[in-house]
Amino acid sequence: MSKTTFDGKFGEYGGQYVPEALMPAIEELEDAYERYVLENEDGFMDEFRRRLREFGGRPTPTQYAERLSERYDCDVYMKREDLVHGGAHKLNNALGQVLLAKYMGKERIVAETGAGQHGTATAMAAAHLDMPCEVYMGERDINRQRPNVFRMRLNGSEVNPVTVGRGTLKEAISETMRDWATNVENTHYVIGSIVGPHPFPVMVRDFQSVISEEARKQMREQAGTLPDSVLACAGGGSNTMGAFAEFVADEDVSLYAVEAGGSTLEVDEEAGVAPNSASLSTGSEGVLHGARTKLLQDRDGQIMESHSVSSGLDYAGVGPELAHLVDEDRVLAVNIGDDDALTAFHRLSQLEGVIPALETAHAFAYLEEHHEELGDTVLVNVSGRGDKDLESVIEETSKRDIDIAPDMDAFAGGF
Ligand SMILES: *Cc1c(COP(=O)(O)O)cnc(C)c1O
Repeated sequence: MSKTTFDGKFGEYGGQYVPEALMPAIEELEDAYERYVLENEDGFMDEFRRRLREFGGRPTPTQYAERLSERYDCDVYMKREDLVHGGAHKLNNALGQVLLAKYMGKERIVAETGAGQHGTATAMAAAHLDMPCEVYMGERDINRQRPNVFRMRLNGSEVNPVTVGRGTLKEAISETMRDWATNVENTHYVIGSIVGPHPFPVMVRDFQSVISEEARKQMREQAGTLPDSVLACAGGGSNTMGAFAEFVADEDVSLYAVEAGGSTLEVDEEAGVAPNSASLSTGSEGVLHGARTKLLQDRDGQIMESHSVSSGLDYAGVGPELAHLVDEDRVLAVNIGDDDALTAFHRLSQLEGVIPALETAHAFAYLEEHHEELGDTVLVNVSGRGDKDLESVIEETSKRDIDIAPDMDAFAGGF
């Protein structure tokens, strides 16, 4: 997929909707992506794979889930990205991009972060590769996610509060783009999902594709067959495309992108609020952060505030490639609400001894409700572990009547 054959468009979606000042940086990145990632110039991909092994802990196992298989009367396998260093798939991308910045001769990294997971992965990769790193984070998010802010600072990164707008991820992305535009000469912007202008969506997908490269081989070896269905939760969609990429050409493998249905799919246009983050299921076409894609927007094209019990899925847009694959009916967009995701969080913890990220729990909730439609062999991508979510699980579980939850009284008010 070189520049001559691919222009960054997935049907109607994708593209490079950026200010003039950013075009030189985008073109330089396109060139570097082709040379180092696609053509392995100077052995870039070999070094990336070595560092994913030694620093990142890859390959991750594909594990047969015995109790879930029994419960659903089919074979359930879990791709254990929760075992990647840092506790989620995010390092696959952060490590790839920080290493690429090094090969490009850049001397400084900037990144945006919402809940802090991508900022933390980038800070770890930057410390590992000895690159100075600044992370932009909304002020509201800084106050909500103090452990991640501390983690980034422990790794030597600076965390810059963003006070404009609502002080969340959307504003942090805009600020990071502004920094990048001002400092393009020496700076690389490590974007956190398969979003943004070309070549970010394909580049991040390629770094995350290691998930399905491994899983496809592991399924062949361990199950003797490819899965009938692959399930992954979708925020921006990077673990999703990472888990799907190597299966897209296998027409018999159904691919399910499980979005956050939040509290309801109904949207309050007047208030400019979507009580969900289901942009694939309910969004409309527009431009956000440099790409045309599916968005949660009001009639005037204003981006709506989104919601999910899991902060990692709480984004008003989605990667253009995923939006296209849904339009083409290659990927099925489905969604799961907050309550069912929380219940699935408790269920997986009890049945398999795996405490999943709240994001990941959405995929397992879909399995619970629709296992009869998913075939004999199902692969679920465990995008991350749930240690980061314990505080909010206590709070959210205590508000609800989840009969399989442990007694929450002892934890009322947090730790
Ligand atoms: C950030 C995150 C997600 C959502 O991001 P994608 O780009 O959609 O993968 C999902 N799961 C976990 C554990 C995360 O940290």
